[in-house]
Amino acid sequence: MVRASFKSKLFAMTFGVINFCAIAIVALTITEQGRLFKYNARADLSALSHNTAEELVKHLAFGTTDELAVTTYLLKFEVYQNIKSTHVYDRHAKLVAQYLNPNYFSSQPQPVQQMAPDQKFHLGLFEDNNQLRLVTQIGDENLKLGYLVVVLDFSKQLQDSENIFYAQLLPMILAVLVITFILAHWLQTGLIRPLIELNTLVNKVQDTSDYSLRVETHGDDEISQLGSNLNQMLRTIDQQHLENQAHTKALEQQQKNLEYLANYDQLTKLPNRKLFQELLKQELSRIGRHHTELAVMFIDLDDFKTVNDTLGHHAGDLLLKGVSERIREQLRDCDILARLGGDEFVIVATGLKEEIEAVVIADRILEQFNTIFNIDKWQVSSGLSIGIAFSDGNKIDLQSIISNADLAMYRAKQSGRGRYAIYEDEMQSNQHRRLMIVNQLNNALNHNEFELYYQPKVCPTRGVTSLEALIRWNSKFDGFISPGEFIPIAEHCGKVHEITRWVLVRGFAEAEKLMLNQDIKLGISFNISAHDIAKDGFVDYITALLAVHKIAPSSIEFEVTESSYIENFERANLFFEKIIALGCQIALDDFGTGYSSLSYLTQINAHTLKIDQQFIRKMFDSKRERLIVDAIISLAKNLNLKICAEGVETKQQFDYLADSDCDLIQGYYFEKPVPFNQINTTIERINQQFGFSQHS
Ligand code: C2E
Ligand code: CA
Ligand code: CA
Repeated sequence: MVRASFKSKLFAMTFGVINFCAIAIVALTITEQGRLFKYNARADLSALSHNTAEELVKHLAFGTTDELAVTTYLLKFEVYQNIKSTHVYDRHAKLVAQYLNPNYFSSQPQPVQQMAPDQKFHLGLFEDNNQLRLVTQIGDENLKLGYLVVVLDFSKQLQDSENIFYAQLLPMILAVLVITFILAHWLQTGLIRPLIELNTLVNKVQDTSDYSLRVETHGDDEISQLGSNLNQMLRTIDQQHLENQAHTKALEQQQKNLEYLANYDQLTKLPNRKLFQELLKQELSRIGRHHTELAVMFIDLDDFKTVNDTLGHHAGDLLLKGVSERIREQLRDCDILARLGGDEFVIVATGLKEEIEAVVIADRILEQFNTIFNIDKWQVSSGLSIGIAFSDGNKIDLQSIISNADLAMYRAKQSGRGRYAIYEDEMQSNQHRRLMIVNQLNNALNHNEFELYYQPKVCPTRGVTSLEALIRWNSKFDGFISPGEFIPIAEHCGKVHEITRWVLVRGFAEAEKLMLNQDIKLGISFNISAHDIAKDGFVDYITALLAVHKIAPSSIEFEVTESSYIENFERANLFFEKIIALGCQIALDDFGTGYSSLSYLTQINAHTLKIDQQFIRKMFDSKRERLIVDAIISLAKNLNLKICAEGVETKQQFDYLADSDCDLIQGYYFEKPVPFNQINTTIERINQQFGFSQHS
């Protein structure tokens, strides 16, 4: 629209200006022509009148008027087409003769134009109605002979002249119009088109944001220059735009990467803890509306650390990936699987109609872990424990359901790995009890609430040869707390090493007393945990204790559970070597409860292998169970390890183990752990009761 109006404006302007000029020139020319014509007519008229007046002098002189001569003379005016009339008056203003042009007057005699006697002639030229009337005096001032009045009509002549002029002008006007039109058109197309193209381009760029558009430029006038400048500007913008786009793209990518890093686990590509919490929050708010149930399932790999430490981090990573894939395969699309870190995963199972659906999922997942993982060249078995907590409609909040699932998972771990546990309120109180124990442990150390009990280990041929020191805690607040309960908690909260040191200080002192009094050589075993092995200066501590007490290092034994040394095999073996260098003994406690013990057995420096209670307990349940015990014993024998069976409660068990060439037997069959002051009587009783001769 703007374009059209500008175009038409310019067209109208060009056309109008040129036409106005043309019309003005024509009008001026006509006016000027009229003026010139009149000027010439006046000059001609005065020359003619003057000559005529001169000529008439002779006919009017001497007082006699030769009317005929004058009339004849006036006939010469016939040649002048535009002289309308000529009148000659004598000095008394009496008409002498007249000439009337037949073109103006009819052939009928015309009334004679007489002047009144007293009328005076006004000399001069008068113009009136396209007529010139020249009144000239005949004779001079001193001798006035008469008057000559000539009337010249120039209207017709003027008209003719104008007509001729117009006739010549018309083609010219037409030519001007055509030229004007052509000129305007040329202006429009030739001059304005580039401008219009520029304008079109600018609009197009504005509409499409396509900065790669260009305008075609011709010539080197200002508009072309403007076009080139615009092109140059667009080129710069385009370049800048592309750079900006690339930059923005890079920024967006960076932003995406950051978001990804912030929300996803790099290894498994699963949502991380942060995103998991956000997603769970959304799901929790949704179940309120949909009346469905939601389950949070905490998953913890059972022996991941072992894989990581023994096969290396790369294998650990591959296992985690494999695990995450296996879990994912068992889930529905709507379920969320996230990695919380380390070997912890979590599932949010949504849209459950019944709680059993979550249990089915857990069962399916556990089943998947019966199959071995092929990691590089290794075959790795991995188990997991699952804790399940339900949303109970929408009554539960985010933190509660998470901590419930965590508690249930902890329970699953405690009650034997490779299983699931569903959260129950009782677990909450369990958790409180754990917290209470954590809080009380410091008190216990400071207020001497611990005590050591000793359980005899009996050699089937020689009687009691050694004792296992077992800690007891009689808490002021909660009475007796079993080491089976508080030791794992102390391990968990990093308190166990302090306890171990307390046990060793007390144990070494009591052992010294015992040996001095008894004058017999009794072995004493102490339980130590993985945390002790990892503690710097622990061997030095033991060395110092040995130096202080009069105890033969060979009578001191350290019982280390399988999981403790497998957690960091290298370090454990180094520790064992140092302990052995001191002259002390190493026993592998709870043997058979772990998974990979057999493969390590040939590489580890130990003296004794303690078969775990569970094998002894089940020994007579089936032949198969018995075969396991047989296998462990023969394995130990082949590896030159002493064997100790613990948890022996019946004569049947004792007889079988004694017959199987078991080196040491420990259990309620002989005696429960007893306080220090009962050791002597206990040993005596056992030896007597079971008919052992006094041992050396
Ligand atoms: P453990 O090292 O396997 O100790 C054997 C456990 O079995 C002891 O339980 C003992 O009383 C019990 N026991 C022995 N014979 C029988 C039997 O015939 N039948 C049954 N049912 N149980 C029997 P206790 O003293 O409650 O200790 C439990 C666990 O606590 C120990 O298992 C050990 O792992 C840990 N523990 C005990 N004292 C210490 C300690 O001083 N330091 C460390 N680090 N751990 C300790
Ligand atoms: Ca033990
Ligand atoms: Ca044990």
